[in-house]
Amino acid sequence: MNDQLENSSDYTIAKWWKPDTGGKLLCTLCPRYCKIGDGQPGFCYIRQNHGGILYTIGYGHPTGFAIDPIEKKPLNHFLPGSTVLSFGTAGCNLGCKFCQNWSTSKAKIDELNSLTASSEEVVKLAIKHSTPSIAFTYNDPTIFGEYVIDISKIAKEENIKSIMVTAGYIDKEARKDVYKYIDAANVDLKAFTENFYWKNTSSHLQDVLDTLTWLKHETDVWIEITTLLIPGENDSQEEIKKECDWILKNLGDSVPLHFTAFHPDFKMRDKEMTPAKTLIAARKTAMETGLKYVYVGNVHNVEGQTTYCPNCKEKLIKRNWHTVIADNIINGRCSNCKTVIEGVF
Ligand code: SF4
Repeated sequence: MNDQLENSSDYTIAKWWKPDTGGKLLCTLCPRYCKIGDGQPGFCYIRQNHGGILYTIGYGHPTGFAIDPIEKKPLNHFLPGSTVLSFGTAGCNLGCKFCQNWSTSKAKIDELNSLTASSEEVVKLAIKHSTPSIAFTYNDPTIFGEYVIDISKIAKEENIKSIMVTAGYIDKEARKDVYKYIDAANVDLKAFTENFYWKNTSSHLQDVLDTLTWLKHETDVWIEITTLLIPGENDSQEEIKKECDWILKNLGDSVPLHFTAFHPDFKMRDKEMTPAKTLIAARKTAMETGLKYVYVGNVHNVEGQTTYCPNCKEKLIKRNWHTVIADNIINGRCSNCKTVIEGVF
């Protein structure tokens, strides 16, 4: 591997690390703060110490591209009805037992026949397919932050938006760099207890709450939140109410919240798929708490996927699954009562 790295432009020297004791390197990109010995990868696998230098082997190596509806990210208040060029890499900095993308997030890069694509080539692909945005998604883009920065910088020059679909588990300093050119983010708030976070994701709730607060109050990034409800794990009304109260108090009433259905996968195959009624009850609780825009996902539920005017209750954006059927937002306002609808339209 060392020879390969020395003789190849394939692998890029990482940002956000420093030498540690015993010949190890300390990666400071995410709150896991891995101490990585020579020849070893960090927890996310794609950041590796070779000869005392930290490399990001995910840089320039997507696992494949897709053109998705933006509603699939999910983002319901950001260029609704548009398409988005989407990709991820191998690896992940979380260890979710219920990962719905585990075939890539838990894979090593050489197991995936990853592609090679420069930052310029990714942006050119978006231009070629006329997608107004690029999403870093499927695995957690935090771990390929250097690639995110380079692509989103070029994309901005081309008037193409950049989107993070992330768990929000990122270091306070590194996030200032990674989000510099980002326009929107969907952040997974995977549950509202530290017990769930540590037991099921090997990460910590408070770091994610901190990222959400920072994004909302110290950046111009448009944010939406997704909570995947898993039967018996994070779907109690009490926990959902606490989450909604926190969002209302700390982020305000206009951050869209998506409750989505879990399907049994990876190391959590003993649970049933989330019943639609659980999602509908969670949405009701969130709206009664005072959140204006609450959605359900991964189930067919037209009402739970419709954007309503929070003032006159007019149906503004009607969706069926990821398809926009009608859009009655005009210049960012309700077509009926002219109330401003928060988002990027
Ligand atoms: S980004 Fe990867 S290597 Fe760095 S601290 Fe997080 S899990 Fe460890």
